[in-house]
Amino acid sequence: MPNEKKLQIVPFRCPECGHPLKAMDQDIIYYCKFCEAGLHFCQTSKERIRRIPIVFAKTRAKPPASEVGSYNPDFYNLTHYLPFWTFITEGSLYERRTHLAYRSGDNYGPGRGRTNLYKGQKKESDITYQPAAEEGHIDKKAIKKFRSLFYIPAFNTPDMVKMGAVITAGNPPIKAVSEKYLFGGVISEEEARQVADLVYIFFEAAKSDFLKEIDFSLRLTRPRIVAMPFHPVGKKIYDLVLGQSWPREIFEDWGEIVTFTENIKSSAS
Ligand SMILES: [Zn+2]
Repeated sequence: MPNEKKLQIVPFRCPECGHPLKAMDQDIIYYCKFCEAGLHFCQTSKERIRRIPIVFAKTRAKPPASEVGSYNPDFYNLTHYLPFWTFITEGSLYERRTHLAYRSGDNYGPGRGRTNLYKGQKKESDITYQPAAEEGHIDKKAIKKFRSLFYIPAFNTPDMVKMGAVITAGNPPIKAVSEKYLFGGVISEEEARQVADLVYIFFEAAKSDFLKEIDFSLRLTRPRIVAMPFHPVGKKIYDLVLGQSWPREIFEDWGEIVTFTENIKSSAS
């Protein structure tokens, strides 16, 4: 029978060390536990498989003892890592028009975050109105600039922008730790770059002056994956770096990742 479609067989071996790689169906981000290589399978790039640094973040927060009990022997086994793209982000804000005047002390919504990306610069009230740039005038001048590390989920979640914004605002100090398993990375670097724009708009739109128009550009450099530890408690999942709780629905493939990791672990032992 003639084969009309050309099937492309992707060898599931680490291009660095030759060990077989384990991955879930949709994964495009791989971690090789043998040589610790991070790999990004990308369809747009000629190289197909590109190297990407992967860092596992050390646990530095716990769910409240009232929720997990003081002793839980399964604590470590129940913890799984989820990948986030991170970029060193240099932003330029050219124009920001709003319906209301800026109110001092304005932070973005979800309570714990602090998103003063423009620390030490002009007061926010100075930038809420800018005359529109003259037509044909290309050399736009930034009225504010910032440099910050942006986090974008690399796994399936219906709330990608908010989750990215909360972790970015929390800006946790990351200490690297050695781990073995990372699954569920399905968002490409290109997609993550687009979400970064929305994360920035989320910050600006969450201020209480009612954003009307915004003109900005982001320069995203040094892409890498930070794998963050998450731990389920009842109907919630806690991240073990910022110590925040998330509703389970926000992790679409959590169950699959847990089952997959457990199968791999038991077949390896
Ligand atoms: Zn390898």
